[in-house]
Amino acid sequence: MSDPAFSQMRVDRPDAAQVETEYRALEQAFDDAADASARRAVLDRWDGLRRHLQTWHSLAHCRFTLDTRDEEAKAERERADELEPRFEGFDVSFLRKLLGDETRDELRASLGDQAIAFWQKMVRSFDQKIEQDKVAESKLDAAYTELLSLAEIEFRGETYNLSGLSKFVEDPDRDIRREATEKRWGWFGDRAAKFDQLFDDLTRVRCSMADKLGYPDFVEMGYDRMSRIDYGREDVDRFRAGVREHVVPLCRELRACQQESLGLDRLTIYDEPIHDPSGNPKPAGGYEWMLQRATAMFQEMGHGLGEFFSMMRERGLLDLETREAKAPGGYCTFFEDWSVPFIYANFNGTKHDVEVFTHEVGHAFQSWSSRGRFPLDYRWPTSEACEIHSMSLEFLTWPHMEKFFGEDAERFRRLHLKGSLLFLPYGVAVDHFQHLVYENPAASHADRHEMWKQMERTYLPWRDNAGIEHLEKGGRWQMQMHIYGMPFYYIDYTLAQVCAFQYLAWADRDRRAAMESYAALCHRGGSAPFQQLTRDAGLKSPFDEGVLKSVVGHVRKPLGV
Ligand SMILES: [Zn+2]
Repeated sequence: MSDPAFSQMRVDRPDAAQVETEYRALEQAFDDAADASARRAVLDRWDGLRRHLQTWHSLAHCRFTLDTRDEEAKAERERADELEPRFEGFDVSFLRKLLGDETRDELRASLGDQAIAFWQKMVRSFDQKIEQDKVAESKLDAAYTELLSLAEIEFRGETYNLSGLSKFVEDPDRDIRREATEKRWGWFGDRAAKFDQLFDDLTRVRCSMADKLGYPDFVEMGYDRMSRIDYGREDVDRFRAGVREHVVPLCRELRACQQESLGLDRLTIYDEPIHDPSGNPKPAGGYEWMLQRATAMFQEMGHGLGEFFSMMRERGLLDLETREAKAPGGYCTFFEDWSVPFIYANFNGTKHDVEVFTHEVGHAFQSWSSRGRFPLDYRWPTSEACEIHSMSLEFLTWPHMEKFFGEDAERFRRLHLKGSLLFLPYGVAVDHFQHLVYENPAASHADRHEMWKQMERTYLPWRDNAGIEHLEKGGRWQMQMHIYGMPFYYIDYTLAQVCAFQYLAWADRDRRAAMESYAALCHRGGSAPFQQLTRDAGLKSPFDEGVLKSVVGHVRKPLGV
């Protein structure tokens, strides 16, 4: 079955002892290889084995998110999480051999610098002695996801999960959105001790791993786990300072305009999602209708997007509607054995559906475009570069938004742009918060809440938490899944946003050239580090002097602020 539909995709659970034997055989074969071409053959075998194991892991995670009540899926995910660090250990042991003095330069010549630099980060941030810590970390993250996924919140006579409740949080009727917001945070407040404890345990296990590996703190280890190769924490620190200087004041103006246009005497947390009195634009049809419109849109955009999207539909590689017990959020994953991506979302009938959709298709299109890359580590670039593919596609699809929003398309575009600017301070706040957390491992639950309040004062000075207890106590961060499951990922969205703004401006000047650069960037996959990919694509690095200021200066014009 070479082209199965998603429902037919099956991978048998690997036998750990047999996998270990295969790795030992690979190491032996590598030692015995007489020349470069024999070593390359061993590398090919290793790459194939990793792809297969990764397919199993991705499928196990995916099926769990589709129905978190499914006991079989849950058991498979748990098994995948238990085995992953063991398999990682086998990889690292093989890589130590690969990166030895005798063969490193030979590999560099055939694969490029990036694979070597990437693998060195992998080796540095793992050792067998943290295997059990990694299992514990995955279990804690799974417990967090499950807690969120099984939320059942009563609202005006119906029961909703968190995604389902979100649409009322942006209702044009102020009473409805206030009540929905209070319900949401009341639910978190009732479980605050549980959320605090889970995060405390995660922090402890992460700091302990960093300690065992000889890192000064988990921040350094976190950067290595994110495979950051051509920038470090000083660059990120400067970037956050740039956001404070150039973006926070602008966002303060945007919030003041918003308050005025809504005719409110104060703009509270439950007013923030609403930007004009008639309510936010919504897609004008249901789920099937959206898919048809999207198919037509991608056909018109060229560069193979149309054929790609039709294939995804035909093979059932999209699961986009929200359902009971489905994990919240959206993501894109890839099944190596069949060389296809999969897109997951939780549509709830708001404009957000279109944003999530174009975002995840960007990831999927990139992974598909670079499916022929070798080694496996070139399938995706590091995540800040991945987010360029997704966030830029959100903007590059702008000329087609009439298909979804009709006469409201222009309103959607303005709102999308505003939302993207307003996202920057929030995004860096989440990042800065995590630095504080891991630089102060002895902090108490209350200290962490205080840190978040400090972030709100610094980056979101307009925020009015309207007396909602959990928010007034500094608990907003507990809904941000990345803080629990993907430490230090969040800054990546803000870096990519600055690149996506450049594509938006470029497409205004010359749409064809912008699309060509975008498609070429997708095709390159992960064959270079972040700043090199951006520069080669004709973009400026977000870390370059003056870039943030000039990019923000350009995108604020159409907003009239
Ligand atoms: Zn993304």
